[in-house]
Amino acid sequence: MKKARKIVNDIFQEIEKRANDRPFDDSLLQELNDKRRAIEDRITLDFSRSVPAASIAKIRETLGSELLDCLEQGKLGVLGKKAKDRLVRVYKKLATLVEFHRFYTKEVQTAELRIACLEHIKNELVESQVAHVHELELLDERLVEHHLLVRMVLAPFEDAVKQFLRFLDAKQIEVFLFDDDKFLAAELKTDGETFRYDMEEEHPPLPEAVSEVTLQEVQETSLDVPLVVEGEQIGHYRITRQSTDGFDKDGWKKTVESVTPVLARIIEANRNRVQARKVYIDDLTRLYNKRKLNEQMGKLFKQFKRGEKKLFIVMMDIDHFKVLNDTYGHPVGDRVLQQTAALIKNAIPHAYRYGGEEFAGIFYGYTKEHTLELIENVRRTIETTPYAINKQEYHITISAGVAEFETSMNSVMDAIDRADQALYASKEDGRNRCTFYDDVKHRLTADAAKLRQEILRLKEQMKRMADLEEQNKKLTRELKQKKQRK
Ligand code: GH3
Ligand code: MG
Ligand code: MG
Repeated sequence: MKKARKIVNDIFQEIEKRANDRPFDDSLLQELNDKRRAIEDRITLDFSRSVPAASIAKIRETLGSELLDCLEQGKLGVLGKKAKDRLVRVYKKLATLVEFHRFYTKEVQTAELRIACLEHIKNELVESQVAHVHELELLDERLVEHHLLVRMVLAPFEDAVKQFLRFLDAKQIEVFLFDDDKFLAAELKTDGETFRYDMEEEHPPLPEAVSEVTLQEVQETSLDVPLVVEGEQIGHYRITRQSTDGFDKDGWKKTVESVTPVLARIIEANRNRVQARKVYIDDLTRLYNKRKLNEQMGKLFKQFKRGEKKLFIVMMDIDHFKVLNDTYGHPVGDRVLQQTAALIKNAIPHAYRYGGEEFAGIFYGYTKEHTLELIENVRRTIETTPYAINKQEYHITISAGVAEFETSMNSVMDAIDRADQALYASKEDGRNRCTFYDDVKHRLTADAAKLRQEILRLKEQMKRMADLEEQNKKLTRELKQKKQRK
């Protein structure tokens, strides 16, 4: 307990130090404005002669090449001096906007990372019940400050979305973006007044991804519209408006479609702000980590329960990895882990490092046969791919366990538990194989029954031994008394 208090004290000292290093007040606003001005000044200087190539590259990267193509000479004919000057002015404005965008993205990322850290610390402290109330309040203050900073920086983006809503006379917009692992995630909901990001706590049911404009009508009209940037779909949004008498539905639909590319661009350019950045990547293998798996499984499990698609989870574990570590050392073990992770990543759609030398994979919308086939392929690929250790070829194998989700399950852990049991069966049967839970569950339950019987037997034996002990004591006492009487 003493040790825990010391840790808490250290954490709070650190937080206070950081907070004092950078208090959130007018000076921070001033600092942001100064940085803004510095960016503008630098760009004015850069553009004193012509348009720097670096700026063009950044504009292209941020806003896409269509925009540059429109501006560029070819379409405007040979440019006179006046037209050239005008073009340079446009580029300068764009370059300034792009630099602002970059600058704010960085600021928001830092602030969001801090929010994530502080929230994590707070949760840990609350759970372990070692912090005082006033200490938690101090943490909350800091959290509010950082949230404020994020909101302030988001203002220009929110303005743009507001205008969009007003232009289309809509009531609400919900944005669903593909995660970087290509699962859909709810990111933003707004009525133009309040903006809610990262709606995870609310657990809204996720819609399936849409690839074409889809109309839905109950009391209001809503459209699901794919968001596409440079030919690639980044997700979709749902726009809703109240249906009133004389509302020209088809006309509205056309207008929505025609301005969607602009919204897509705005969202894509602000993606980092819209999506809260979290630490999801495992450093060693560059695979997603357990945290990402847990969050993703939580979302998919709900989707699975409402829908028709099948959901499987596989747990994989390298065989006799300890031997390899003990023989060649930890660094070699690490390299093998990296290579194995790369093979797994290539072969299955959604792979995660579960911890140590264990990996997990998700199969959503796949048949059982296809799932097992893909896992069998991974197993074989790993078995046949040689690892170079000390200029010699070394082979490793993995064991796997697969479980299918059932709608009657209460939580994700039920399935993970089954996959783990199936993995254990693979190990027991000699390793380097994949086991499907359903195929061994009778054996596992039989094993469990055997175990329960064994426990009962041992308990009875213990009771008998205790009885004997008691008898023994009694006899000894009686013997003593007899001796004393003599
Ligand atoms: P089994 O076939 O039963 O799975 O045997 P095993 O030796 O793989 O069993 P076990 O799970 O007990 O051993 C896992 C080992 O993995 C123990 C640990 O030292 C090692 N390990 C865990 N994480 C890392 C890591 O990041 N790098 C390295 N090099 N080794 C790790
Ligand atoms: Mg293990
Ligand atoms: Mg192992």
